[in-house]
Amino acid sequence: MVSYKELGLVNTREMFAKAIKGGYAIPAFNFNNMEQLQAIIKAAAETKSPVILQVSKGARNYANQTLLRYMAQGAVEYAKELGWEKPQIVLHLDHGDSFELCKSCVDFGFSSVMIDASSLPYEENIALTKKVVEYAHKYDVTVEAELGVLAGVEDEVSSAVSHYTKPEEVVDFATRSGCDSLAISIGTSHGAYKFTPEQCTRDPKTGKLVPPPLAFDVLDAVMEQLPGFPIVLHGSSSVPQEYVDMINSLGGKLPDAIGIPEEQLRKAAKSAVCKINIDSDSRLAFTAAVRKVLTEKPGEFDPRKYCGLARDFMEDLYKHKIIDVLGSDGKA
Ligand SMILES: [Zn+2]
Repeated sequence: MVSYKELGLVNTREMFAKAIKGGYAIPAFNFNNMEQLQAIIKAAAETKSPVILQVSKGARNYANQTLLRYMAQGAVEYAKELGWEKPQIVLHLDHGDSFELCKSCVDFGFSSVMIDASSLPYEENIALTKKVVEYAHKYDVTVEAELGVLAGVEDEVSSAVSHYTKPEEVVDFATRSGCDSLAISIGTSHGAYKFTPEQCTRDPKTGKLVPPPLAFDVLDAVMEQLPGFPIVLHGSSSVPQEYVDMINSLGGKLPDAIGIPEEQLRKAAKSAVCKINIDSDSRLAFTAAVRKVLTEKPGEFDPRKYCGLARDFMEDLYKHKIIDVLGSDGKA
């Protein structure tokens, strides 16, 4: 058992309260490897933004749980080395799917966990979330839960369909489960293909798809039911077209990849939405950089050259999100 406090990490409680009051959102960036972690910490340290490092079950399997825990500890020390005296860094489990996985993360030094039981019947979602909350709170670890279903990886049955959160359920759910924050479904979606062409309109000038707007009426109704309660948005990459175009022009194949327009995320960040999850955008930045180096210099075989450029691309992307979209710069 290792406590996140020994690692210099913080939980989300105070961070979220400040973000709601201040009208900004905390970035939650997924990471699987050293370059991503370096880019996240550098961007957060240089902009003085609180940050949530997210690890999915898949990332944990990919990177190894022990290595990850030491990487997070190293991230705190690296942040200090960069001149960030009191780093505000959370290590968070993204989409925990069982009590055992959440418990294992709490025991391994995570400061926050998500239990995603949103695919279970309502009462079972409450029961499992409550069980995780009871364990996690013993160690002052905060818990994110989910109500409603996002399209994409979570929804294995019919990936194109999402089910918006029902605002009439949120008070009962939050009260009985005891969760610290709630991920809701208002039309965001996982991955780089958030909408089918049929769901979109096409810009006649560029030929690019224009996605349907987020359901801000659902968000407003949730906030009315649960004033001041921390709300989380998953699947909130904007899928920058410059990366998609770069990848496609360098031999890649990402037809009609599309995300959430940043002006909608800006609007959400000013509300009780205090955590915005971004994963696909950094994957795109990474891939664009690797393709660029390998295409322009076919003789290159030093991974530091293409992973180094990938790191630069991701750092720029993270800073842009922090400063221009979420408004979390200068808040830590
Ligand atoms: Zn998610």
